[in-house]
Amino acid sequence: MATGEIELIYCRRCSRKTNHSVLCKAREEADPDDGIWSRTHYLAQCAGCETYCYATATETEDTYDHGLDRMVPEWDVYPTPEGEQKPLDNYFLFPIRVRAIYLEVVKSINSDLLLLAAIGLRALIEAICKQQGVSARNLKVLIDGLTDRGVLSTKQSKVLHRLRFMGNKVAHEISRPRRDEVLAALVVAESMLRVIYIVPHLSKGIRTGGRKTDKGRDTAVKSKCAKRCGQPSQPNEQQQP
Ligand SMILES: [Zn+2]
Repeated sequence: MATGEIELIYCRRCSRKTNHSVLCKAREEADPDDGIWSRTHYLAQCAGCETYCYATATETEDTYDHGLDRMVPEWDVYPTPEGEQKPLDNYFLFPIRVRAIYLEVVKSINSDLLLLAAIGLRALIEAICKQQGVSARNLKVLIDGLTDRGVLSTKQSKVLHRLRFMGNKVAHEISRPRRDEVLAALVVAESMLRVIYIVPHLSKGIRTGGRKTDKGRDTAVKSKCAKRCGQPSQPNEQQQP
């Protein structure tokens, strides 16, 4: 059944990247407007402990390594290793700088590099503020600026203000934070990222207007499915008013 291909994939039982025998794979070309160039899906088995996994390798404009002169795809493995933070599904919608910092924060947390994660979270909030046109002399005032704009709720801004590493005037004053503090800041930062970059994108696909619209959407979906499967759409669907 195996394809004979070997890929280096993280094994949740071995707790490290190991050679995996690829049992089957499928490559999916994506819409470049979404920021994703391609995604390859794998069903694979660890060559050491024989644990199975489903994994995806995603290529985006950020995954080209100019030093190596080749693509180095971003791997996601399922089931997610216990305790590991997964980046938000739609992170490719974030501006490049925000996306780069966000992904490094998640990687730092997963590598237990909490001091770097805390500094990254500060940089992430600053990058979001800059992109939103909020400027201030320190992080406390930036957070208040986001609250004034409705990007953060008052409760969320209180969470950030309570975190010691957010309260430090400059990044080099920070000592290693607790994991729960870093995770709290990540939750708040991700809610901001959803509000600013993901919700507006999702809302573009929503049509309102009641039954008629729902019916039209159902017909459009069925026609799209039929087209993909190489079948003609049902004539009675097209003739409906
Ligand atoms: Zn293994």
